[in-house]
Amino acid sequence: VVKPRPRSVAQRPELPDIARVVAVHSGKGGVGKSTVAVNLACALAAAGYRVGLLDADVYGPSAPTLLGLSGRAETTADGLRIRPLVAHGVRVMSLGFLLPEGQALIWRGSLVDQGLPQLFTDVDWGGLDVLLVDLPPGTSDVHLAAARQVVLAGVVTVTAPGQLSVDDVRRGMEMFADLAVPCLGVVENLAALTCRRCGAVGKVFGSDGGAGLAAEVGVPLLARLPFLPALAASGDAGVPVVVGEPDSLPARIFTGLARSLAGRI
Ligand code: ADP
Ligand code: MG
Repeated sequence: VVKPRPRSVAQRPELPDIARVVAVHSGKGGVGKSTVAVNLACALAAAGYRVGLLDADVYGPSAPTLLGLSGRAETTADGLRIRPLVAHGVRVMSLGFLLPEGQALIWRGSLVDQGLPQLFTDVDWGGLDVLLVDLPPGTSDVHLAAARQVVLAGVVTVTAPGQLSVDDVRRGMEMFADLAVPCLGVVENLAALTCRRCGAVGKVFGSDGGAGLAAEVGVPLLARLPFLPALAASGDAGVPVVVGEPDSLPARIFTGLARSLAGRI
């Protein structure tokens, strides 16, 4: 059972032009963390919030693909800061905008320590109500650097329902509890889907693991998102469902997620 174990942490700087920083995390890769982060950002922007998205997955930046952004980031006129790109009202920064096209980067510990803080502080966000940070999977230097660099209002934890994902995700939650960063709630992705008409249950992995984890840790289950091929297609096409198909089931789920998150930060 993950219990918050607040520990004194060094005073972390507030970023002056950002009201709240919220991380999106999972202990496991491939559970839809970036899909959730991108659609949540677009849903918050559609609701009128000034939103930034920092793609901090230094090992596999995916915001450029999911948002259909292929440009390079430019510096501000004074040359001191980096200008975010904008998609669907969301200001976006990703390592993908800083590297030469098609080039992968392997960050060593020291680079993570120096480079990631720069992604937070050297970007000209221009005043945000919320900055969402799409973290890499697992528990690594990047997570520690993120938690040390800024005051995180909290973490949204994404899990698939199966036991393997839940166990990895629980470890991630323990790490943030250790860093005195609150978990704002759980999003269960790839959840079982029950047909309203015939009652049939379609599931990809296990069932109800996210709900069980949320109950066990004592945090809300913020959303349950079934496996929906249209969601994968929209990601590949670079148009988030919240923007491309705002009346679809996943879009309505993300809009609800944005509303409940906004009420908690
Ligand atoms: P992560 O950031 O955790 O590695 P991604 O958001 O990149 O995961 O998602 C991994 C893949 O799964 C992507 O191709 C994405 O489009 C797809 N995907 C995520 N969630 C769903 C879902 N609910 N239904 C269908 N496909 C999904
Ligand atoms: Mg990702």
